[in-house]
Amino acid sequence: MRQMIAGNFKMNGRLADVAGYASAMAAAPAWVDVLVCPPFPLLERFAALLAGTGVALGAQDCHAAAAGAHTGDVAAGLLREIGALYVILGHSERRAAHHEGDADIAAKVTAAMQAGLIPIACVGETEAARDAGAAEAVVRQQLRHSLPDGFAGMVAYEPIWAIGTGRTPTEADIAAIHAAIRADLRDRFGEAGGAIRILYGGSVKPGNAGAILAIPEVGGALVGGACLDPADLLAIAAAATAD
Ligand code: PEP
Repeated sequence: MRQMIAGNFKMNGRLADVAGYASAMAAAPAWVDVLVCPPFPLLERFAALLAGTGVALGAQDCHAAAAGAHTGDVAAGLLREIGALYVILGHSERRAAHHEGDADIAAKVTAAMQAGLIPIACVGETEAARDAGAAEAVVRQQLRHSLPDGFAGMVAYEPIWAIGTGRTPTEADIAAIHAAIRADLRDRFGEAGGAIRILYGGSVKPGNAGAILAIPEVGGALVGGACLDPADLLAIAAAATAD
């Protein structure tokens, strides 16, 4: 399966950075899909400048409703209209800071698919859950309730304790969770579940990307901090395995 390297800018990036970042993306390797997910106000500028580079554009959230009285929120249809093709949903920072639960995320995933966006649904356990031996159970529970029937998108496994900390699970632990996610996806979605890309996220850097991306069932990486330097995102992309 072709791997994807997705950069999540979070609440970073300014208008003045866009041109340089987008022109750096012209050097993205051809054997891997590359995606950048900047803050909402930068999407349209990125869309114009990434045209023709082969690098895709995504948002970091959307609302579950198509339109309406939702101050401060953004509709999936508008994101699609201005050039986003993907949307990250259920990131642990949104689950925690905005109290988003699995049902909220499932509703957003549905809205994204209806608008023609490809959702990247995030799951991942806390450190306490991992220490209690419950990592797999937590992830499977999130998966079951965050993915609606007919799900067509990607899953990102992001252990919360590995995000922005410089710590990562062992390769065996990543392999075990990805295998469990794959088994659940196949059980639920049949053949289509075998083709869903499962990204790993949590302190992926140029130095550890090769080892992580070589783990079975790792279909790519969701990269936070390291994506802020386009050279690092490209170095991670260069470490991706070819088809
Ligand atoms: C993320 O926020 O999705 C993430 C994986 O962050 P980082 O790479 O900084 O750990």
